[in-house]
Amino acid sequence: MDEGLKVTFLGTGTSQGVPVIGSEHPVCLSEDSRDKRLRVSVLLSWGGYNYVIDCGPDFRQQMLVNKVKKLDGILFTHEHSDHTAGIDDIRPYFFRQGDIPIFAHKRVVKSLKRRFDYIFQDKDRYPGAPSVAINLVEKDTDFEIGDRRVTPIQVMHNRLKVFGYRIGGFTYLTDVKSVAEEELEKIVGTKVLVVNALRIEPHHSHFNLEEALDFVKKVKPQRAYFTHISHLLGFHAEVEKSLPKNVHLAYDNLTIAI
Ligand SMILES: [Zn+2]
Repeated sequence: MDEGLKVTFLGTGTSQGVPVIGSEHPVCLSEDSRDKRLRVSVLLSWGGYNYVIDCGPDFRQQMLVNKVKKLDGILFTHEHSDHTAGIDDIRPYFFRQGDIPIFAHKRVVKSLKRRFDYIFQDKDRYPGAPSVAINLVEKDTDFEIGDRRVTPIQVMHNRLKVFGYRIGGFTYLTDVKSVAEEELEKIVGTKVLVVNALRIEPHHSHFNLEEALDFVKKVKPQRAYFTHISHLLGFHAEVEKSLPKNVHLAYDNLTIAI
């Protein structure tokens, strides 16, 4: 059944993006547009609603490319800069819509308050500063965005607790190295799974390709897409060919219907 949820991959790159500045690695020099990866984020659209998961340093460019005129909120997975550094660029939305709802764990909010203090300031606010409405996300507590229910999935990014999110048949997990069994139960039956696959070699805080493929076997979604990709994973066209039929590498601006 079509749930009417449209997912757009705004960025599918790891923290430095692909190409890496100054790199002469063949993947960084590739002319295939699918080898150009902005920092990781997705746009969730349905029935006039637009939400993004994460808001990294490429947020402005991503909103311009995808002509997103209205933003109903931002769900944060965690506080690392490649997922949060673009928050100042919510200003055009704030000027038109007022406070922009954010959904995040309290630790993530604390980090944002420290790094973007002017956004959260109550008194003597700078006139051009944006403002947000804070919604705290807790493990084991579903919440709503628009008219849809979201289940937070707690996963481990090395020792850091990170949230992934399930909305109906769609599950988005990024920056994952391990998932506890009780959290796995929350994503049983998901139709489309998005998960990180950083590179070929193992990494201390991310699934490599082999671990991502093993995870897909465990979850058994109808379709899976890999994201948060480093140039060290290889050329998009070559890696894509090596994957099982229902597993794909995501690429920037790929749109899928759930
Ligand atoms: Zn990341």
